[in-house]
Amino acid sequence: MGDAPLPPALTDLTVPGYDVLRELPGARSFTPKQVRRWVLERGVRDVDAMTDLGKELRARLGEAWRVRRGALDRVHESRDGTTGILTRLDDGRLIESVSIPDEDRRTLCISSQVGCAVACRFCASGLEGVERNLTSGEIVEQVLVARELAPDRPLTNYVFMGSGEPTHNLKEVRKAIAVMNDPAGLGIGARRITVSTVGHPEALARLAEDEVPFHIALSLHAPDDASREELMPGLGPSRLEETLREARARFEKTGRRLTAEVVVLGGVNDTDEVARGFASLLSGLNVVVNLIPWNPVPDIDLAPPDPRRVEAMADLLRARGVTTTVRRPRGRDVGVACGQLRRHAASRRPRD
Ligand code: SF4
Repeated sequence: MGDAPLPPALTDLTVPGYDVLRELPGARSFTPKQVRRWVLERGVRDVDAMTDLGKELRARLGEAWRVRRGALDRVHESRDGTTGILTRLDDGRLIESVSIPDEDRRTLCISSQVGCAVACRFCASGLEGVERNLTSGEIVEQVLVARELAPDRPLTNYVFMGSGEPTHNLKEVRKAIAVMNDPAGLGIGARRITVSTVGHPEALARLAEDEVPFHIALSLHAPDDASREELMPGLGPSRLEETLREARARFEKTGRRLTAEVVVLGGVNDTDEVARGFASLLSGLNVVVNLIPWNPVPDIDLAPPDPRRVEAMADLLRARGVTTTVRRPRGRDVGVACGQLRRHAASRRPRD
C-alpha cells in the first residue's frame, strides 16, 4: 500500500478561499478569519498552535488540512549579511530564497519554479532544466519563513528573481501575489513587489490585466534578438520589439517605471557596442537599466566582468540619457548567486 495523500495546505488558499473552512463541523462565521490570521499573520506551522479555536474544531481542521507544504532545510549567512534559505518541499525537492540587505532595505529574492527552462548560460538554476512549478502556497511560504528567520530585520522588497521564470507559472505566481498584496493576507504594497521576467509578449499582456500594479523587471541581457537567444537557449524566439511594446503599454496603464536587467559577463556582453545597442533599444522608454556583474558559478565556464568595463557601460548609457545603476555583487562567500545554493545542497544528503 502506498502512503495516503497529504491533505491540502492552508497556505495554498487565496484570502477569500479561507471561507471554505466554514464547512468544517463546529466552524463559526469567523473561523476562516481566525485561521487565516494564524497562518499568514502569526505564521504558525501547526494547527495545534491555533489556541483560540476549540479543541474539537482544531482536530477537524487538522484532519482536513495541513498548514504548510514545505519545511526549512538550512540557512546560509554570508559575511555581507546575505542569507540563503533552503526549503525542502513535500516531494523532497529543494527551493531557494535569498534575503539581501542593502542599507535601509532588505530584499527577498523568491523562487517560482524548481529549476528553470530558460537555461540562461550564466545561471545555475537552469542547468538541469525545470522540474516543476511551485504552488502559490510554496511561494507564499518563502515569505513566511524569511520573516520568521529575521523578525528584527523586516523585509522591505520582494522580487521574483530566484529560480524559475515567473511567467512560465503565471497562474500560481499571480495567485501568490494576490495573497501577498491583500491587506488581509500578507499586506505587502504592490510597489514593493517585482516580477522579473524574460518578457514573453503574451505573458506581459496578461500581466497588464492584473489589478495589482506590481513592478516588472525585464531580463534583457543583450540588446538584440539573436544574442538573447544565444544567451538564453530555452527562451524560444526573442521578440524584443513586441516585448517593449507591451512593456510600454503597461507603463501607460500603471505608471510603473520599467526596470531592464542586464547580467554582465566578462568578454561576452560587456562592450561599448553592447551598451550602445541598449541605449538605442531603450531610447524614449521610461526605464532604469540595472547592470548586474555576474557572480561566478562552479561548472559554468564564464568570467565575471572587469568592474571598469561595467562602469564604462554605465557611463555610456547615462551619457545617452538612459538612467543606469550598477548592482554590487552579493553573497559570494556562501555561493548564493542564482540557484547555486540549491544545486550545491541537492548534490548532498538532506540535513548533512
Ligand atoms: S537567470 Fe532566471 S530565467 Fe535565466 S535560467 Fe536562471 S532562473 Fe531561469
